[in-house]
Amino acid sequence: MDGGCTCGAVRYRLTAKPLFVHCCHCRWCQRETGSAFALNAMIEAERVVLLSGAPEIVPTPSNSGKGQKISRCPACRVAVWSNYAGAGDSVRFVRVGTLDAPDALPPDIHIFTLSKQPWVRLPEGTPAVPEYYDRAKYWPAESLARWQALRARSGR
Ligand SMILES: [Zn+2]
Ligand SMILES: [Zn+2]
Repeated sequence: MDGGCTCGAVRYRLTAKPLFVHCCHCRWCQRETGSAFALNAMIEAERVVLLSGAPEIVPTPSNSGKGQKISRCPACRVAVWSNYAGAGDSVRFVRVGTLDAPDALPPDIHIFTLSKQPWVRLPEGTPAVPEYYDRAKYWPAESLARWQALRARSGR
């Protein structure tokens, strides 16, 4: 799965399917995107291969207070992924809308629905939680195994 920024300078490839896809309705994501929610595909950093360009890392405040690093195209400034303090540099939150075929990755879960914009109707059959969630309860076994392997490798 390939993706990139709007001007085309930054291009990347996902070499595996994501661990899990968040649709986040928190106020922070609403503000950062200027929209109703953010769609983030969590994936191991080494499974995101840069094909061209060099994203610039912009330190940005986050809900947790620990900050996040948003990787943006240095030319058009579109955000392609971010790293949160909680998950560290080994996990990227790829902005699904920057994929060439974003339809391929619908949300696996809706989070922070407490601050969901009232006109957004959540689909039946997709988990939705008021704030955050317990990974073990929602992730498929394969993703949990990949997560454990990643934790072991990164020593966290
Ligand atoms: Zn660009
Ligand atoms: Zn959010």
